[in-house]
Amino acid sequence: MSPRPAGVPGATPTGTRPPVVDHGPRVGNRVALTFDADMTDGMLHSLRSGRVRSYANLRILDLLEREQVPATFFLTGKWVQRYPEVTRRIAGNPRFELANHTYGHLAFTGDCYDLPRLPASAMTEDVAKTFRVIEPYGGRQTRYFRFPGLCHDKAALDALAPLGLTVVDGDVVSGDPFAKSWQPLVRAVLEKARPGSVVIMHVTEANASMTDEALPHILAGLRERGLVPAPLSEVLAGA
Ligand SMILES: [Zn+2]
Repeated sequence: MSPRPAGVPGATPTGTRPPVVDHGPRVGNRVALTFDADMTDGMLHSLRSGRVRSYANLRILDLLEREQVPATFFLTGKWVQRYPEVTRRIAGNPRFELANHTYGHLAFTGDCYDLPRLPASAMTEDVAKTFRVIEPYGGRQTRYFRFPGLCHDKAALDALAPLGLTVVDGDVVSGDPFAKSWQPLVRAVLEKARPGSVVIMHVTEANASMTDEALPHILAGLRERGLVPAPLSEVLAGA
């Protein structure tokens, strides 16, 4: 493994089972908006066949940039390789953090929605490889990691112990995958968001096509409640 600079957010001692966090301290007024960038072989096939136009929702980036809103992106390696320009755009924004969401969005436990399972022997390398794909883009790199479907058990956590990372689930699930309208997403987020919350959304466009419509209402609702989006590292630190 290549040496990492000290102080990278989420870095933990290698060889110890990674901590799992749902949210930051319930103090202050900050919340973390996190966006997962899933990419599977099936999704790549849909792009190649022309059935799907895009799994990269640029309207979300446009809005976050225009409003200068901080956010944290959990990227799969295959998404980064399919969208290098978008990844560069994310890495180039000083308000955005980059985090790890596996290489090809396979399941790390037996029963995880309909995701095909990654063999236990391949787990460590899958996540290590994803860091190697993301790190050359620079920007605000982290050692935060999110399991596909948030599915993990002791064996999966032990497999990641050599990598020195922090597992981030989240306490506010927007429910945006395959949503048919934006209103339920807004309700789900605004009902649950509190100081220290970690909100889970997706930047995958075709598989989460209502997220960009919901986002302005989510931002307005957070503002009304006095909650301010901040990078995940700052929310988890209670800064
Ligand atoms: Zn995912």
